[in-house]
Amino acid sequence: MNDQNTTIAAISTAQGEGGIGVIRISGERAIEIADAVFKNINGKKLADMKGYTAAYGSIQYENEKLDEAVALVFRAPHSYTGENVVELSCHGGIYISRQVLRAVLEAGAKPAEAGEFTKRAFLNGKLDLTEAEAVMDIISAKSRSAARSALSVKDGALRRKINSVKDDLLSIAAHLSAWADYPEEDIAEVTDEMIFDSCDKAIAALSHLLDTYDIGQAVKQGIDTVIAGRPNVGKSTLMNLLSGYEKSIVTDIPGTTRDVVEDTVLVGNVLLRLSDTAGLRDTDDKVEKIGVDRAKKRLEQCGLLLAVFDNSRELDDDDMQLLETAAQVPTIAIINKTDLENQLDITVIESKVKNIITISAARGEGREAIVEAVEKIAGTDRLNPSEGILSNERQRANVRNALASVREAKAALEMGMTYDAVTVSLEDAISELLEMTGEKTGDEVIDRVFHNFCVGK
Ligand code: GDP
Ligand code: ZN
Repeated sequence: MNDQNTTIAAISTAQGEGGIGVIRISGERAIEIADAVFKNINGKKLADMKGYTAAYGSIQYENEKLDEAVALVFRAPHSYTGENVVELSCHGGIYISRQVLRAVLEAGAKPAEAGEFTKRAFLNGKLDLTEAEAVMDIISAKSRSAARSALSVKDGALRRKINSVKDDLLSIAAHLSAWADYPEEDIAEVTDEMIFDSCDKAIAALSHLLDTYDIGQAVKQGIDTVIAGRPNVGKSTLMNLLSGYEKSIVTDIPGTTRDVVEDTVLVGNVLLRLSDTAGLRDTDDKVEKIGVDRAKKRLEQCGLLLAVFDNSRELDDDDMQLLETAAQVPTIAIINKTDLENQLDITVIESKVKNIITISAARGEGREAIVEAVEKIAGTDRLNPSEGILSNERQRANVRNALASVREAKAALEMGMTYDAVTVSLEDAISELLEMTGEKTGDEVIDRVFHNFCVGK
């Protein structure tokens, strides 16, 4: 990455046609560089303006007026990056935005790398690493719960939790080593009970956080979901009910859904990546067979199976085969066509599947029941968006390792090992937590975090 002293610039709005486009400039020379391209309507230089002020004028490039613009001035340290920042808002076309950026670069700024603004904010102590990562999660959020969770983490929910565990462990470790190093001095003794107590508290907090990871993934990334059932049970109709518009082909002829139809829908606060499959029946039709094979494969690997049954027909071999699969993956059994007379023996399904709901997809009845069942199975009914959740592999690895080390410390104590051994494990745990928040993190890890960002963030 470029060194910290250069002034960087990038287009910070999405690239495309929009009402406005924002070119962000950050660094010591940001205001001076902006003054070189921006002509204030009242003639006043940005350099003579206070922070948090705006000016209206135009961008000048190659002795011509390029566009009207508004300049927002932020002065270090009161800006996103903690440096001097100017944001030039112009019209949001691709050509205009790029020309303004070009003018800014010619005036002395360097193109910003992916995530470089946020990286600078982190290096300047504006954000810890979990908060920086949350910026990206906010940008990519596709649902209210995803956005709210990310916002809480951005506001420090995760940082505070981790710091409180870390401070607790630190104080025990510090006591232990002071006590070991200066036994003759009058340092308050640490009792085994105090250490046990701190370890137990840390173990509880860290385990709870680990649990939030899977829930967070369901909210953020979504769950690979397969809708399966024998031909004509109403899979396509169900899919339409979930996605809210006609996407699958609904027909009366069994086997019409030849291929895997995919769609991403928000069911309650869970993102489902749905595929409506061809039926699982044996077939000689070549095209249909490809669909069936593909469906079987997806079924075995899916995160959630919506197994659909027809209330108006007795269970057949295909249904029984589906029930066998259902016993092996997280499943919601959906009994469809409750508007028709019951022929199906529900006790057979009850003996195989725990979550069963009844709907009439054609009448649009039962979506709520599906939402409830999906949120329960994904665990998001337990999600408290104001609580911090683990949102990526990096954080999960740190918490997992810290948890293992605290457990080791506790075990060492139980086995009557020396306090030195306990301290070593506690210090391992602490260093994992320091790495997680970015207080003690290698450059490589930091670079990796910010390279996942896009340019302009
Ligand atoms: P798929 O082959 O499993 O995808 O089934 P479809 O969704 O294509 O539906 C097959 C037929 O069942 C269509 O004629 C639907 O209108 C009908 N159907 C779907 N859901 C219901 C329902 O809840 N009640 C009734 N009476 N018919 C339904
Ligand atoms: Zn279908």
